[in-house]
Amino acid sequence: MKIFIDPSHGGRDLGKTVNGWYEKDITLAIGLKLRNILRNRFKLVQVLMSRTNDKTLTIAERASKANKWGANFVLSLHVDLWEKTKFFKSYRYRGRVSNTTFRAQSSIHRAIVIETGWADAGLLSLNHPLLRQTTMPAIITECPFVSQNCLNSIQQIANAHMVGLSYEFNLEDKSTILTRRG
Ligand SMILES: [Zn+2]
Repeated sequence: MKIFIDPSHGGRDLGKTVNGWYEKDITLAIGLKLRNILRNRFKLVQVLMSRTNDKTLTIAERASKANKWGANFVLSLHVDLWEKTKFFKSYRYRGRVSNTTFRAQSSIHRAIVIETGWADAGLLSLNHPLLRQTTMPAIITECPFVSQNCLNSIQQIANAHMVGLSYEFNLEDKSTILTRRG
């Protein structure tokens, strides 16, 4: 299973900025944490990131990296820095999408809502170039981010995505002792 994680924004593109927090830094912190959790915890998972530092990247560069690598799934991370918002949103491409895309969006979305207790803004669609230019199932998530409790918030968001991804893709825990054979 090849999962491509895209921490949105970066470099000159700050994303949303509120009270000295930049969205680009938060999406990167979440992406790195999620990558490490997935690599440490599950068997047979490969993770590639669009960026692992504060770098300016076009959407086309991100999409082309995922396409060239042959990712099975693309997850692009955004956060909403508006303090009062506790809504979770996810987006698939607004247009024709495969059943796999729709199923991945629904189950990852539901797992995140259940895991975090955030209000559910529903399964949304968006005509976003990353969703359009990637050739595999791809979704964007937008999580509420609480800056008063930054580290907890990053951990919670990374963890909720891990739960959603492992559920949708049946990722097998490395610590599993019993394996069904045949
Ligand atoms: Zn954003």
